[in-house]
Amino acid sequence: MTPSLERWTVERSTELYGVREWGAGFFGISPSGELQVTAEPGKFENAVSIPEIIEGIQARGLDMPVLLRIENILDTQISLLNESFQDAIRSLDYKGTYLGAYPIKVNQQQQVVEAVTRHGKKYHHGLEAGSKAELIAAMGMLRDTEAVLVCNGYKDQEFIDLGLHATRLGFTCIMVVEMPGELPLIIERSKVLGVEPILGVRVKLSTQAGGLWTESGGDRSIFGLNAAQIIDVIDALKEADMLDRLQLLHYHLGSQIPNIREIRSAVAEASRVYAGLVAEGAGMRYLDLGGGLAVDYDGTQTNFMSSRNYSVNEYCVDVVEGVMTVLDEQKVPHPTIITESGRALVAYYSMLLFNVLDFARFEPEPLPEKLPPDTHIQVQHLFEALQALNLRTIQECFNDSLYYRDEVRQAFSNGKMSFRQRALADNVFWEIIRRIAVLSKDLPALPHDLENVGQALSDIYYCNFSVFQSLPDAWAIGQLFPVMPVHRLGEEPTREGLLADITCDCDGKIDRFIDSQGVKRSMPLHELKENEEYYLGAFLVGAYQETLGDLHNLLGDTNVVTIRIRQGGQYDFVGELEGDSVEDVLTYVEYDPKALLARFRETAENAVRHGRITPSERRETLSAYRSGLQGYTYFER
Ligand SMILES: *Cc1c(COP(=O)(O)O)cnc(C)c1O
Repeated sequence: MTPSLERWTVERSTELYGVREWGAGFFGISPSGELQVTAEPGKFENAVSIPEIIEGIQARGLDMPVLLRIENILDTQISLLNESFQDAIRSLDYKGTYLGAYPIKVNQQQQVVEAVTRHGKKYHHGLEAGSKAELIAAMGMLRDTEAVLVCNGYKDQEFIDLGLHATRLGFTCIMVVEMPGELPLIIERSKVLGVEPILGVRVKLSTQAGGLWTESGGDRSIFGLNAAQIIDVIDALKEADMLDRLQLLHYHLGSQIPNIREIRSAVAEASRVYAGLVAEGAGMRYLDLGGGLAVDYDGTQTNFMSSRNYSVNEYCVDVVEGVMTVLDEQKVPHPTIITESGRALVAYYSMLLFNVLDFARFEPEPLPEKLPPDTHIQVQHLFEALQALNLRTIQECFNDSLYYRDEVRQAFSNGKMSFRQRALADNVFWEIIRRIAVLSKDLPALPHDLENVGQALSDIYYCNFSVFQSLPDAWAIGQLFPVMPVHRLGEEPTREGLLADITCDCDGKIDRFIDSQGVKRSMPLHELKENEEYYLGAFLVGAYQETLGDLHNLLGDTNVVTIRIRQGGQYDFVGELEGDSVEDVLTYVEYDPKALLARFRETAENAVRHGRITPSERRETLSAYRSGLQGYTYFER
């Protein structure tokens, strides 16, 4: 990019990086060009500068990358969801109430579940568990017996017994039947333990939603019962004289449903099923809509998969209204509405902060005016393509250059061209691509195969993090996250780059970025400065990323720091978790660090025996190995 003549302003950075659009009022840029965060949307008098937090983290001896959590953003989101439902219920004169159940799988970290139960207490916000381990975590964390504890997932006897024990303790623990085979065991175990269970059924709706995570909706979803199977459940419960224990209807369309229309049709369909269960004589009290409340990652407010075309308020109003419309018509009392929103509660509250280690820049060598007469014929053809390039011949020259580049490669492989000629050809080729990228900016519409030529010229910024560990969905399913520099925002970013991580894996990169027009293949970045770190952040990473991450290249968990923002832009460090050491990650893959060290001692002793090193060099080597074992898995300065 050529620097513009007008003075750059922080306002232009705000627009360029879409901060207002994706930031939901939590993020903004200070007059001095630093990214700020506040826990109260839009209240920047209470905002904290992110570079200042980074300084504080480093002063405490923790290295980048760091996962930073802002604890009271989670509080804000819990309040937003609960109060939006309460408002909708009040304004529509709905006769039932709302209860949230946080699905532990979205972020299982103890700090997160603890924060949800602590702040959620005033709304009786409960938990949803999808496995035995999650149920055990939930039973240990939840204190509020007025909150619900919803058990989904396939259940064995141990799982069922645990749920029944929770019910006996006074928890509203609801066991949701997901598979036809689960019911007989639940009936049997409740008789054995003498506990009256609270039961739910998960229905497979025919409503299917678009998006990346929506396999769980629709007729072909893996979980849930179809109409005939639900009738079987009713009959079996009737037989056991337990039909009054069936109190909840559950469905889950999938996560991140971008289109409100699909949410509304699912609510309507499920409300019909609910009314049907009431008519059958079940003791219905709860309608549980599962998750799906989406996050606007790209800030476009559209039904694009990284966005959503509705607000939290609209979601709540549409849900309450949708339930009422069907049930009033059927004269069925209004149930307690439950949602299991996870993503919308936790996404905003974590960000990944990392430094840039290095960059690679694409810059073709300057070319001569004329080629020497002995230049290989294929290189001459390429050069002619370059000379013929103008706005009208873009497509033709592009095609020609690809053709001659292949010819050049062929000639080189067959020994018909020298290495030097081949290098010259590469230079000519990249000069063509560079000029096409420049020219194509003046085209109203780009031919399809030219759309990404610009990307071939982007810089690569090498960053201190692992996509596989910290942003697994960016790699696995192409999810978009907002990414931007956290400082120097009063300066114009004059480079375009993509981000590579330190795994050296060709998939270890971020090359899809949010954009108001769709997806961009590179992002604006600043020129690196000598002796000055350049910090970037990836935002809205609180949902799903932490435990889905893996140990690719044995890069482990990052350091985690939690802060709580106070009035007036003060903040407290309230939690700090050291990331994995090399020793830790080796243990995960079954090494025994002590045994490794012992073996390495022998190797070093052998070297002494053969006179390759002295005993005191051995001591140095061993001490380097030992401190390597204890070190952070990421790049340390
Ligand atoms: C994953 C899941 C959720 C959470 O969905 P979000 O879209 O993150 O709110 C809720 N309920 C069930 C059953 C799930 O499997």
